[in-house]
Formats: sequence, structure tokens, C-alpha cells
Amino acid sequence: MSKAFLIKYGEIGIKGKNRHLFENALVQQIRHALKPLEAEFSVTREQGRIYIEALTECEEEEVTERLQCVFGIVGICPVVIQEEEGFDKLAEDAVAYLREQYPDRKLTFKVDTRRAKKSFPMTSMEVNAALGERILEAFPEMKVDVHHPDLMLYVEIRKKIYIYSKTVPGPGGMPIGTNGTGMLLLSGGIDSPVAGYMIAKRGVGIDAVYFHAPPYTSDRAKQKVVDLAKIVAKYAGPIRLKVVNFTEIQMYIYEKCPHDELTIIMRRYMMRIAEHFAQEMGALGLITGESIGQVASQTMQSLAATDEVCNYPVYRPLIGFDKQEIVQVSEKIGTYETSILPYEDCCTIFVAKHPVTRPSIKVIKRSETKLQERIDEMVETAIETAEELVVEAE
Ligand code: ATP
Ligand code: MG
Repeated sequence: MSKAFLIKYGEIGIKGKNRHLFENALVQQIRHALKPLEAEFSVTREQGRIYIEALTECEEEEVTERLQCVFGIVGICPVVIQEEEGFDKLAEDAVAYLREQYPDRKLTFKVDTRRAKKSFPMTSMEVNAALGERILEAFPEMKVDVHHPDLMLYVEIRKKIYIYSKTVPGPGGMPIGTNGTGMLLLSGGIDSPVAGYMIAKRGVGIDAVYFHAPPYTSDRAKQKVVDLAKIVAKYAGPIRLKVVNFTEIQMYIYEKCPHDELTIIMRRYMMRIAEHFAQEMGALGLITGESIGQVASQTMQSLAATDEVCNYPVYRPLIGFDKQEIVQVSEKIGTYETSILPYEDCCTIFVAKHPVTRPSIKVIKRSETKLQERIDEMVETAIETAEELVVEAE
């Protein structure tokens, strides 16, 4: 009895042609997610369902863990797949399945058979009854309860026979590759990896840009961002990460502009550069981890000033989240522990004691004219010298 899984996925909104795209993308993402495992798998689509069969030995838990990172999956059911070989073989496999899946069998159960293949010699009701009996014989500690059973044992008789009972919840969402790509501004903080995760959940592939300020920010700070990208890549697939040397631009702004406007002006240059890469790499929007009012640079006025330089849409999935809610997601997806490592961030090095909280776009623009002489050339250099890494999940 080799290990197999039935994959349940959401169907809302995937009628017609889109359904095909959705299913193909999902199969591709499943294959990708299982690739790092040693075992070989076959992933097949059949009658509106996806089945994964292990062709070699594998750990069920390892497989389930990987599949729980694949957006589009709603449920993962360990399943026994059987060629039709008569009722005795079916009963034997069902008993073996229960033995393996439920070490503690003081449970009530109910058998629920669906027979799509009408040539099978027993009706669904007959299978329910006969299989129930076999299970009681094998496990006298189990009891039938047709109203509120602890476990439902599903038997589906199609071209092949499928036996399953457990559903492990998947992450939901849409498969990566069904909704284009976004350019994530990824810092080493708690918020931006969560923002990337949330947009990826809707089927959007992720590329990212990190603004690095050596020697003020260390290699460890950069490695931390790469490590965060690796975790996001578990869900979003491979991420092309641009590492931009931002030091010169930051110093120049620091030298020429009022210090209380520093963060906003810096942020505007980050957006301009991120947008350049978005265009170059084919991303359809920018993604940030901002949330209204979290810090001075995230008031409504500050966000408006940041937005003003962007032609691309800016997606801010955390906009209405409290910090605590963001922390919860980061713990769930596994980025929290890395995010709180205490390495310096390029924005905290040059921050003013009292940054403006209600910047006027007119005033900010006037300050930016003080950068006229060298800023274009500096931006160009930053873009040209950016390093590109391809970050894959481990
Ligand atoms: P985070 O936890 O994501 O760092 P934050 O609360 O520290 O967010 P800010 O520092 O104001 O907030 O940054 C707001 C957003 O700007 C971040 O979520 C991120 O998308 C982007 N950002 C900030 N600094 C950088 C950076 N060094 N490189 C790339 N993006 C950045
Ligand atoms: Mg930050």
C-alpha cells in the first residue's frame, strides 16, 4: 500500500477556462513543493481532483508539511488508492488504513460510500454495511455512530477505489502563477515578509528588493533579509531578490534635506527604484508592509506622499492590521524568529528624533529639488550596481 494523497481545492471563481489554468498551476506548485524531498511522486489530475502518489518510501508528515505551504490547497487527505480487485481487498485495505492513521482506536465511526462506477457489484449501502462489519471485527474497540461519528471513512468507487478519512487543512488562497508577479519591498522587519506572504496567497509570484546601506548595515543584516526571503519562498516559489546599495543616496538626502523629512524622502526614492525593477522584471505592482499609523512614515499623509511618486499600484495588505495581528501571521508562517534578530536597519540609522507626521507633498517636493545636482546619477548607479540573487526555499 503506497502512500497517496487526495488534494481538495477551492472551486469558487474558477469556472470555465480559468479552472484549467488554476489546476495546472496547482499541479506545478505541488511538484515544486515536493521536489526537495527525497521520495519520488506522481501528481495527476483526474475528474476535477488532484492525486499525489508516492512512488518510493516517504514520511507522510513531511509531505503534508510541504503541501500546507502550497496556496490553492484547501485540504490534504491521506488516501488509499486501489485498483478494483473486489470487496475483500477493499476491506483489507480499509482496515490497514485505519490501523495506520488512528493508533488510538477508541472511536466511533461511520462508512460513507459513493459509487460512481455502477458496474461495481455492490451498492453503496451494501458496501457501508459490509465494510462496517469488517471494521468492527478487526477493531472490537470501535463503535458505529451514524449521527455524530468521531471519524468518517469515505470510500469512493470510481475507475479506481479511494479510501480516506482525515483532512488536514491546507493554506487556501490561489496557486502561485495564476495572478502575475509583484515587487515586494523586503526589509528585515516583521511586516514586509508577512505582506509578501499575503499577496502571494492570492496567486501572485514574488520578486523583491532590499535597500542595503553598508557599512552602516552589516552583511548579517543582509543575510537576515535573504533568510526571510527563503521562508517566504516556501510559499511563493523562487524569489528574485535585488539588493540595492542605498548608502550614497541616503547620505546625500541626509546632507541636503531637512532631517525631519528624511524618512519620507528616502521612502520615495525606494519606491522609485522598486518601480524601476518592477517594470524591468515584469511585476505588476509594488508590495509593502505598511499599516496606517504604525509609525510617522505610515500616517495617511505620509502614505500619500510615498504613493505620489508611484505609477504602479502599491499593494499594502497589512494596511488595517494591528501589530499584534501581524505578529500572529509572522509566527504562523515562520518568519517571526528571524525578523526579531537584532540587526540594524537602514532606516533606523538616519532617523530624525521628531520626523514629520503630516508631510505636505508640496514641501517634500521642494526639499527634493535640493537633490537635483546628483540624485539622478546616484539612482542610476544604485540600479546598475544592484546585485540579483535567486532565493529558493530550503
Ligand atoms: P518592516 O517590519 O517590514 O521592516 P516597519 O514597521 O519597520 O516594516 P518601515 O521601516 O516604516 O516599517 O517600512 C515600511 C515598509 O517599507 C516596509 O514594510 C517595507 O515594505 C519597506 N521598507 C522599509 N525599509 C526597507 C528596506 N531597507 N528595504 C526594502 N524595503 C524597505
Ligand atoms: Mg523596517
